[in-house]
Amino acid sequence: MLAVRKLGPHPGISLDIVSEPSDLNPDEVLIEVAAAGICGSDVHVYEWTEGYEFMRSRLPITLGHEFSGHIVKTGSHVTGLAEGDLVSAMPTSSCMRCAQCAGGEPHLCLHRRTVGLTQDGAFSRLVKVPSISCVPFAHDVDPVLAALIEPLSVGDNATNLGEVAAGDTVVVLGPGTIGQAAAWSARWKGAACVIVVGMNDSIRLRTVEAMGATHTIDLAETSSFKERVLTINGGRPVDVVIEATGRGSSVTDGLSVLKRGGIFVSAGIHGAPVTFDLTSLVRNKQQIRGAHGSQRRSWERIARRIAQNPESVRPMVSLELPLSDAKDGFERCLAREVSKVILRPSS
Ligand SMILES: [Zn+2]
Ligand SMILES: [Zn+2]
Repeated sequence: MLAVRKLGPHPGISLDIVSEPSDLNPDEVLIEVAAAGICGSDVHVYEWTEGYEFMRSRLPITLGHEFSGHIVKTGSHVTGLAEGDLVSAMPTSSCMRCAQCAGGEPHLCLHRRTVGLTQDGAFSRLVKVPSISCVPFAHDVDPVLAALIEPLSVGDNATNLGEVAAGDTVVVLGPGTIGQAAAWSARWKGAACVIVVGMNDSIRLRTVEAMGATHTIDLAETSSFKERVLTINGGRPVDVVIEATGRGSSVTDGLSVLKRGGIFVSAGIHGAPVTFDLTSLVRNKQQIRGAHGSQRRSWERIARRIAQNPESVRPMVSLELPLSDAKDGFERCLAREVSKVILRPSS
């Protein structure tokens, strides 16, 4: 079968023919992939920017961790899932043996494995995953929208950590997929004002407006970020800032508009250490929290939300492509000509 692979620690991807997965473990399922999104982290892996050294020892590998598909085979110990079920799968699985897992915190596992980053992923017709990672969808859900559950859950986790509440003003830095998902989640939690900030990013800013952001700012068109945010918010600093850019300067920018006692959530992957005024943060009693990945309770809630309100997330999807056009999809993500690109391995 055709697969989009990362062969070595250098820029680029490769379209290769690989053998189909064999020898299913008793607790695994085999999924025929219907839809798989190209993630910002896939684009980083494509470019081979800093922050992905952990993959080096696992290469070559099939990419793809945001996906949905139908189960075609179940391992002998699998219960509660059957052939034909539409599922997505949480990409990261825990060892269930380390101290963190034994202590009831598997999301903090020290030996986590991630489909599409440290084991073969979903940019191919078939992928195998642990059954415990699967989250089922109703049969009538569009598989393309089901494949959005991973980034939507990551954005939801960021707003959970930011303790976004009804009536809040939230600034989201970065209109990429995680920024879009965080803005969507913040509105769903009742935030009255959600301001999303980008730089030369009109297409993705239009997308996030369609997903419920109340205001957008393109830094290419304004000289004063801080002034614009304060004007929108009636002269007051904001309750929560969610940073999803990976650019160091966005930490200083975000803190400059955050209220005393406010929460700054960093969901961006930074290629370099960041410098900011820690004493000012301390005196203003602000907090910085790191948001990475998501937890199962987010996935289950968002699976229901996608089924109930599919049109609220459809604007995320710009383009659907066959697997053979994957390079074109990656290049268009890099050029920021598109929001989410979905590959259709089985079409
Ligand atoms: Zn992702
Ligand atoms: Zn563990």
